[in-house]
Amino acid sequence: MIYRRRINTYQWHFCQNCQAWPTDEYEERKERAATDPLDLCSECQTKLLRGECDALKRSMP
Ligand SMILES: [Zn+2]
Repeated sequence: MIYRRRINTYQWHFCQNCQAWPTDEYEERKERAATDPLDLCSECQTKLLRGECDALKRSMP
């Protein structure tokens, strides 16, 4: 799963179909670091729970 966060914000998104999914000026991570307290977007989490999350997969294995 790929995580994106808009520059100067603190919430990470992981659903491409989230209304707030950053498409420019963002920071991207390929995975969550266990030690890193990530603040996840509530809309993304709701989509995931409902099975509606269109998550970006890694392009390279
Ligand atoms: Zn989101």
